Amino acid sequence: MSKKIMDCVIIGSGPAGYSAAIYAARADLNPILFLGFQPGGQLTSTTNVDNYPGFPVGISGNELMKNCKKQAERFNTLIIHKTITEVYLSNKKGGVHCINIENKENIESKGIIIATGSHPKFLGIDKEKKFMGLGVSFCATCDGFFHKGKDVVVIGGGDTALEEASYLSKICKNVYLLVRKSYLKASKALQHHIFKKKNINIFFCSQIIEIIGDNFLEGIKIMNNKDKTSKILFISGLFIAIGHSPNTELFQNKLNLDKNGYIIVEKGSTCTSKPGVFAAGDVQDPIYRQAITSAGTGCMAALDLERYLYLY
Ligand code: NDP
Repeated sequence: MSKKIMDCVIIGSGPAGYSAAIYAARADLNPILFLGFQPGGQLTSTTNVDNYPGFPVGISGNELMKNCKKQAERFNTLIIHKTITEVYLSNKKGGVHCINIENKENIESKGIIIATGSHPKFLGIDKEKKFMGLGVSFCATCDGFFHKGKDVVVIGGGDTALEEASYLSKICKNVYLLVRKSYLKASKALQHHIFKKKNINIFFCSQIIEIIGDNFLEGIKIMNNKDKTSKILFISGLFIAIGHSPNTELFQNKLNLDKNGYIIVEKGSTCTSKPGVFAAGDVQDPIYRQAITSAGTGCMAALDLERYLYLY
């Protein structure tokens, strides 16, 4: 790895990371982008992206991210298939930050753009982790195939849960959507789409209280929050889609984070609490969390870094 002090190291490879790379490269900042543990980010595990401008008939999440990578490479971004394991952030304006790669080598840079995204939340119940890959899943496009013609449950009432349910309804016999409130949080467009599907049954005011099975998932016990009745659903797959947590473990006690772990940025910018360190995408966005907003803040981070380097 280069011993030279870099201008721009980008951590993460979702829409925020790649947009930052495209802008930084075109500004001659010679960015290095680290792909991290999920190259392409969360869009690689979604189906069709229908709301990203410029694709009138939609595009698969995977395809979109492959295109972003090609575009970043076209402007000579150095893309490295490795994960960052530690960062040492300077407090000084114009200071040099040190980034450790897979506990082996260090790289130094005046600027860092954090675009590490977020990861799906766990329910926190018994057997949830033990049965991952044995019936419990966080990704319908990855695992839906294994439940062809069978019954499955999706937990959650947001856009992710409804997209998962929609995808699974094409493969599975029945999809049960478990929603803890009496209404869905998802966008109206997705709700209308789901209500039309004959094999999706929604259980409102319901929550999972037990995962059943000895060696793999065989069913779940659910309870109605209103009348307190419970029942067992025999299913082959349980898809958990209850939101996300930011990937900020690397930055605990190093950057200012909010109570949910999101990186705090200055209003209207991507500046974090350390000079020369910028954050873009879901890692700093508990509200919008869209591919397009991530790409937008990735662009902002590159422009913020360019101005910072010019001043210091
Ligand atoms: P959200 O936070 O929007 O929704 C999470 C859902 O899970 C809510 O219904 C919530 O219920 C429920 N939930 C949370 N914790 C539990 C629990 N312990 N047990 C049961 N249910 C629980 O997350 P999403 O991942 O759906 O979406 C995140 C963001 O990404 C949103 O902004 C969304 O719009 C966006 N997105 C957009 C897509 C698109 O436009 N195509 C596709 C996917 C996501 P409650 O309402 O009670 O809190």
